[in-house]
Amino acid sequence: MILADVYEGYRSDPAFDHLRTDGIVLVPGEGSPRPRIFIVGEAPGATETLQRRPFVGPSGKAIRSLMGDCAKLDPVDWFITNTVKYRPPGNRTPEPEEIAASVPYLRQEYAAVGSPPVLVAVGNPARQALAPHLKFGTTTLAGKPYPLGERWIWVMVHPRYAISQRSYRPKMEQHWEDFGKWFREEFA
Ligand code: URA
Repeated sequence: MILADVYEGYRSDPAFDHLRTDGIVLVPGEGSPRPRIFIVGEAPGATETLQRRPFVGPSGKAIRSLMGDCAKLDPVDWFITNTVKYRPPGNRTPEPEEIAASVPYLRQEYAAVGSPPVLVAVGNPARQALAPHLKFGTTTLAGKPYPLGERWIWVMVHPRYAISQRSYRPKMEQHWEDFGKWFREEFA
């Protein structure tokens, strides 16, 4: 299945009817068509919805800077998307049912870009969607690789947390730096 078909399926799924209100459009993933890293966030915000691009608002820019400046990832290596592809009202956290209904599409999206060997879950909803077997909270799991079948998953704290808890910022930068080093060692 190609990416366009995955998003078409999401657009017509009645599970998301309640999110399709005025001005709310689906925000697709973007990045390399054959990445080695599949990065998943929470849901689009206002800026993402206006521009129809993921990770372009304040939190998104923070993640892109962590990916580039700290992890030093090459754009040919990553594809980035959200667990829930519509902005939830008032930017609330996605509900468990919205996350569960999004999982089949996340799987299709992942397969459409070639099932990359490394996954990164940014924030709780992505961790719940991609690795429900990891029972600890995101801050406990963050910054280390965990096996996921024959693949690997890293869990990262959502940058929103570091915006409210400024003292967490250096730790978060360290996690992305460690991730970049690990990736280059494992996948050079
Ligand atoms: N922007 C997104 O698209 N998703 C997030 O999780 C955060 C910012």
